[in-house]
Amino acid sequence: MAAEQHPRERRDSAQGTGQDGGTALIVFGASGDLFERLLVPGLGTLLRTESAPSVRLIGTGRSEVSDDEWRDKVSASLLADDEQDAHPAAIDDVLRSTRYLQGDPTEPQHLRDLLDAADGRTPVLYFALPPAVVDDIVGALEDVDLPADTVLAFEKPFGTDARSAAALTEKVHALVPEDRVHRTDHFLTRSQVRGLLGLRFASGLLGPVWSSEHINSVEIVYDETLALEGRAQYYDGAGALVDMIQSHLLQVLALITMERPDLLEPTAFRDRISEVLAATTIAGDDPQASTRRGRYVAGEVEGKQVPGYLEEDGVEKDNDTETLAVIQVAVDTDRWRGVPILLRSGKAIGDPRQEIRVEFRVPEQTIDGLGEQTAPSVLRIPLKDGDASLELPITSADNPVRVAKLEMSGPPPSGQLDPYGAVLAGVLNDDPLFSVREDAAVRCWEIIEPVLRAWQAGEVPMDDYPAGSAGPDSWT
Ligand code: NDP
Repeated sequence: MAAEQHPRERRDSAQGTGQDGGTALIVFGASGDLFERLLVPGLGTLLRTESAPSVRLIGTGRSEVSDDEWRDKVSASLLADDEQDAHPAAIDDVLRSTRYLQGDPTEPQHLRDLLDAADGRTPVLYFALPPAVVDDIVGALEDVDLPADTVLAFEKPFGTDARSAAALTEKVHALVPEDRVHRTDHFLTRSQVRGLLGLRFASGLLGPVWSSEHINSVEIVYDETLALEGRAQYYDGAGALVDMIQSHLLQVLALITMERPDLLEPTAFRDRISEVLAATTIAGDDPQASTRRGRYVAGEVEGKQVPGYLEEDGVEKDNDTETLAVIQVAVDTDRWRGVPILLRSGKAIGDPRQEIRVEFRVPEQTIDGLGEQTAPSVLRIPLKDGDASLELPITSADNPVRVAKLEMSGPPPSGQLDPYGAVLAGVLNDDPLFSVREDAAVRCWEIIEPVLRAWQAGEVPMDDYPAGSAGPDSWT
């Protein structure tokens, strides 16, 4: 095992470029959806910045891919429309040096070949694969001499339950120390989500009212129009609860509810995240009362016919997979006790919400005669595109005893990096600040396990909803 060194020291000495002049980003699962649709475009945003790292991109998978096909695939994902003829130098370097090595990722000799292809660069092994395969590859790496500075990066879900996540971490720690492990979460690196830190801790307006004394409820909702889109192999074994809530939405919840870290560095920051997740449970410890699940049937989404989930290729009816999950959680800290917090995510939803909604309490006392119909103040932070907004009651222009609504809105600041560009900046600079620590990965499974058990036992009904609708009729 390599000697421990603080990530910041490694960053200072290596500047994210590895000791021999760069990193080799070795991606397992390079024939998959994530690689093409998110990871490589994200890398593109990083390569267009002034601090573009020197990186060699090496893809691997069992699929046969010719050199030409590989270069075409990488350039199609990496280049923007106006860059086809002239590329920024860092992108050119990647396109020139990128390689695909076909092979079985669970074979130690194939793993050695991949490390050889790194050619002395710091290897960053990025696992964009189903969790069961990840476990096998990590096992096979025990038979391989890993360079001391190797970095391991894992896509969610990390493990398939709390026990397997803890066991996987133990196997991973036999290879590299925790500070060289990145459990990535591209919701944590969304600029809107990271912006919560400024809104909460740098704001004299919101910071002082960020508690149950002033907040009535919180909702974290990420619905999407996307249906299965050919991803049955992964999704049908996961479902909305595991795919979205166990990872992304619980991480967002942690940023909303955590106490203030003294320092924005990995230990202090992630300690606060772990503390609040330790205090988080399914409301009332009662999945029957606090959770709902649904599955889309045939319908129309944005003018396109979508088959019912059970009719999609590769879906097994017996898996009983939900495509819409809603859970209510309780955070048992002095700050949050008593505040209902709702997490929801669904597929094939028409006009989907993707936001954090914080509703403030209406004051117990107002002026006699003013605003009997006082509305709550509401803060909305988008989880993807769109404006943030703050709704406040205001005296009506026409009638001074009536209350009207003032809405202030505007786009949160956006940066050069997209969420995966920011994930890769963390991984390639070996800065784990916004990656998920071992204890948090396990805790997020523990939080949802009572729900998984109740759903598997059929204690919560599976409600149908037509694709393109807002969810089951019975929920409204
Ligand atoms: P895919 O289902 O597309 O699988 C990725 C690749 O894994 C496949 O192309 C296949 O490559 C390889 N693979 C599949 N099964 C096996 C196996 N049994 N043994 C060896 N290799 C296998 O997954 P995605 O790309 O969609 O996702 C990858 C990971 O990223 C998942 O863990 C997912 O949760 C996560 N993720 C995905 C997102 C997305 O939008 N796609 C978003 C966020 C996270 P080959 O056959 O060539 O070996």
